[in-house]
Amino acid sequence: MSRLQDKVAIVTGGARGIGAAAVELFHQEGAKVVIADIQDALGQALADRLRGGGTDDSITYIHCDVSKEDDVARLVDATVARYGKLDVMYCNAGISDGRPGSILDATREQLDRMIGVNLVGAFLGAKHAARVMIPMKRGGGGGSVLFTASACTAIGGLGSHCYAMTKYGIVGLARNLASELGRHGVRVNCVSPSGVVTTGVGGGGRVKSEAEVAEVEAFFSEVGNLKGRNLTVDDVARAALFLASDEARYVSGVNLLVDGGFSTVNPSMLNAMQIG
Ligand code: NAD
Repeated sequence: MSRLQDKVAIVTGGARGIGAAAVELFHQEGAKVVIADIQDALGQALADRLRGGGTDDSITYIHCDVSKEDDVARLVDATVARYGKLDVMYCNAGISDGRPGSILDATREQLDRMIGVNLVGAFLGAKHAARVMIPMKRGGGGGSVLFTASACTAIGGLGSHCYAMTKYGIVGLARNLASELGRHGVRVNCVSPSGVVTTGVGGGGRVKSEAEVAEVEAFFSEVGNLKGRNLTVDDVARAALFLASDEARYVSGVNLLVDGGFSTVNPSMLNAMQIG
């Protein structure tokens, strides 16, 4: 039995990176998936590829800027009109502004931009998903609202101040929502990765060169706690799949760190004692 059989899922920011990995895995596990993004060519190409050129209607691309309420409302309504329901809302779309920097260099514009996409996008996605999930009659835990937050919600200094503020805000929203939506059988959780190499890391969304990717890979390998491999988009998608599926049917209000223990351990002690 596939893990998302008969479920209907929306993945925002699903055209690329972590979102695209989740789209592919959710679809593979039997879900009908709606890819929501602003990169129409990429999103449509992914939908076409997963459809395998056939007439299969189990995957759809819909243009949606998560910072615009009309877009998000339309996305949710179009999903329900097409597939009859919504089981999983994965609010994954997000932007970053690169490396941590000084508060002295952070700007109000940067903060507004970050809030506009990361935080407002999460709020609108949750609000419109709840609008259609609340009236659905189903067994407890059948509905799932998921967010991609970040490991920067568990340890200081991982991202910029503006980015960290928005991701902490998402975790706060998720916990508050878990309290409200539990009585309607809807679970709310976050998945929080540490650094995973996608085109988005440190690049404001631009496509990286191979040399840049190799440099970031080497950096993550050096600073990561769990040695032997780097975190991949597929690892994050697998954690999201667990939280989206009925395997996590009594899991709500959780911020699941997918960071190989990075935010839990402090290597400075080991380094100082020259152990390992
Ligand atoms: P990415 O840039 O590869 O993908 C992000 C996707 O979101 C893109 O397809 C982009 O077009 C889309 N998007 C951006 N703004 C949007 C908007 N206004 N409306 C709709 N879609 C929009 O980045 P990624 O690394 O896959 O990031 C996915 C999520 O994971 C983000 O929320 C990010 O903050 C979070 N995250 C990433 C990392 C990492 O190291 N890559 C670590 C922690 C958290």
